[in-house]
Amino acid sequence: MKYIDIHAHMVSRTTDDYHHMALTGCVALTEPAFWAGFDRLSPVVFADYFNRLTSFEPARAAKYGIQHYCWLCLNPKEGEDRELTQQVLELIPQFLDRPNVLGIGEIGVNRVTRNEIATFIDHVDLALHYNQLIHIHTPHLEDKYKGTKVIVDTLVSDRRVEPGRVMVDHAEEHTIGMILDQGFWTGLTLYPQTKTSAARAVDMLEMYGSERLCVASACDWGPSLPTAIPHFVLEMRRRGHSEQLIRKIVYDNPIEFLSQSPKFQLTPASVESI
Ligand SMILES: [Zn+2]
Repeated sequence: MKYIDIHAHMVSRTTDDYHHMALTGCVALTEPAFWAGFDRLSPVVFADYFNRLTSFEPARAAKYGIQHYCWLCLNPKEGEDRELTQQVLELIPQFLDRPNVLGIGEIGVNRVTRNEIATFIDHVDLALHYNQLIHIHTPHLEDKYKGTKVIVDTLVSDRRVEPGRVMVDHAEEHTIGMILDQGFWTGLTLYPQTKTSAARAVDMLEMYGSERLCVASACDWGPSLPTAIPHFVLEMRRRGHSEQLIRKIVYDNPIEFLSQSPKFQLTPASVESI
């Protein structure tokens, strides 16, 4: 089955991973800007990173028939540094016109500090000013509920924000309800060992329905599986869900959300019969 992975950090992956994703049906993916595994000290490094996300990675993905899109930001973890944040925010607009940039992300909070929240709001302002879609990271583990609530409350209190143009990612059982209730899109990122498994994702789908819901592999620096979505598809089939419902989650829903950016255009090779 063809699928679209809405959260895949391909800079941390080998070409073998692109190959496996293509072999298992991936036709497009979106790559949010994220933490590099270490704190970057200069805006120049971010310029190089944004260049990579908008030139090298799309070309690498294209060799496997995968369309590569991306999101730009200074990530929540480095958002603690307000001076660096201002420098990177000044840098981002010159990249927004590049053909594979869909919006601002993954922004959000990590330890839910005052500085991180200020950086988050700065990015939301930037996205709204340039009419960009927004992709949001929510914290992991013990900070998830508190961080997700701060993010949702901040966005809801801003009347300029259209919830249908915002994806709040890394949802779990205790946060998915508050995200969907406010009209946002939500993402479930699937991990082989930690965090949400394919089985837990299907549980949440069965509890909350299939509207405004997407799944992703994350495929980042840590233990993660580039083919996590096919594993989710298998779990859906094992439980007897229809092919139509599976396709809605892994293909139709991502298209519905991402197509709000005029730059998201699947090529004919990607939209042939599934
Ligand atoms: Zn991520």
